Amino acid sequence: MINQMKKYIKNLKTPIAIIGMGKSGEAAKRLLLLSGFSEEEIVTFDSKVASVDFKDPRQLFSVAKPRTLVVSPGFPLSTPWIKEAISSGVHITSEISLTCAFLSTEKIIGVTGSVGKSTTISLLQAGLNAFSASNFVGGNLGTPFAEYASDLIEGKRTVAEWIALELSSYQLENCEGLVLACSAITFLTSNHLERYESLRHYYDTKWKILSITKGKMLLNSNGGDLIEYATQKGTRERILITSKDDMGLSSFQLDKALLIGKHNQDNLALAASMALESGWPNSAIDGMKSFTGLPHRLENLGEKAGIRFINDSKATALDSVLIAATEVINTIKGNSNLFLLLGGKNKNLPWEQLKVLRSIMGFKFIFFGECREEAQDKSQLVGPSFPNLGEAIDFTLKNAKFGDTVLLSPGGTSLDEFKSFEERGNFFKNKIADFFNS
Ligand code: ADP
Repeated sequence: MINQMKKYIKNLKTPIAIIGMGKSGEAAKRLLLLSGFSEEEIVTFDSKVASVDFKDPRQLFSVAKPRTLVVSPGFPLSTPWIKEAISSGVHITSEISLTCAFLSTEKIIGVTGSVGKSTTISLLQAGLNAFSASNFVGGNLGTPFAEYASDLIEGKRTVAEWIALELSSYQLENCEGLVLACSAITFLTSNHLERYESLRHYYDTKWKILSITKGKMLLNSNGGDLIEYATQKGTRERILITSKDDMGLSSFQLDKALLIGKHNQDNLALAASMALESGWPNSAIDGMKSFTGLPHRLENLGEKAGIRFINDSKATALDSVLIAATEVINTIKGNSNLFLLLGGKNKNLPWEQLKVLRSIMGFKFIFFGECREEAQDKSQLVGPSFPNLGEAIDFTLKNAKFGDTVLLSPGGTSLDEFKSFEERGNFFKNKIADFFNS
């Protein structure tokens, strides 16, 4: 198999054009160079990146005459000039297929879906870190898969026992050679329809993951259109529908996990079921339960002096604020309070949507930033208001008591005070750390 796949690389006809020079394209180039191709045999194409050989597809074909295209996920295979190239005999491959040529004993699992991929993959990473000495987690999120093979070739890492890949539907369109031991679909809902003829076509692309899976494909029972779509497909073989109420998971007490939110219980159930299906030890599921969430997205920062802190700085739509607020208020016990920090820079947000929070017991609203007055007027929520986030946090830290929770789920963007939502979230974390260390 290895030799056969190495042959795959040797047989690639040159010149090779890398289509799309984002992270995936750069990683593919590094791997091609390490595989023995010369700089002269590789050309790069991207219409948006400055430092490429070609920006115009017509020029690419008339001047460079590529015989192989490494197509990045950003370019649909249905792009007219790519279709034309295919019909004129140009070979199409991808960063994933190139990487597969260098695999030997690795066991690979893969996750796709409209939402929930990154969280599920991060849970799998936490699970793997709890027991496996050598693993690689990446793909669509984080490190491109080709970096794994390049690092192997350069002796920078050892062969991974397990690989967990986040796979977008674009990657599933072009991943010859990839074989998964087990896979999962998190959720299906209309998304990226600009690239597909129809919703059905988009779902069919996600479903392709089954054809590259040797073992079971797991489906989240709460996955939007997923179960209905699966029922229409009629395929039962090798499919397992997972839920947090599954008997096999009951002994793991997934409800005690640090990850916040009902939807994340579904993601956890899916990841834990993949672990069981893959024969991982119980410590993997314990590792997943300790995962605190992706940074700045309902990230559970833990407790200080009995006060729990949650960083949802990424929430810049009121739907996200409502989800965060209602999920977290459900976890508040007795007479304790939830301090909700709202504000930032306005972008014509329909703050009226937050009126529903008025009648729920336990909230303490705190407003900050450029949009604080408009947010307060329109939402009709009552609470103190501060020109900037720092003062709002100071006030909250002085007033929160043992058992309370402080949630930064601002609604407004960070740009009135910060460069990004990450910078705002880190500021929140640092303020809390400074307060408790002083
Ligand atoms: P992706 O990587 O697929 O974009 P993420 O894991 O980053 O997905 O989650 C993005 C958002 O999707 C979350 O903030 C949450 O609002 C929503 N989400 C995640 N998982 C689920 C799920 N299982 N069910 C419903 N919504 C979800």
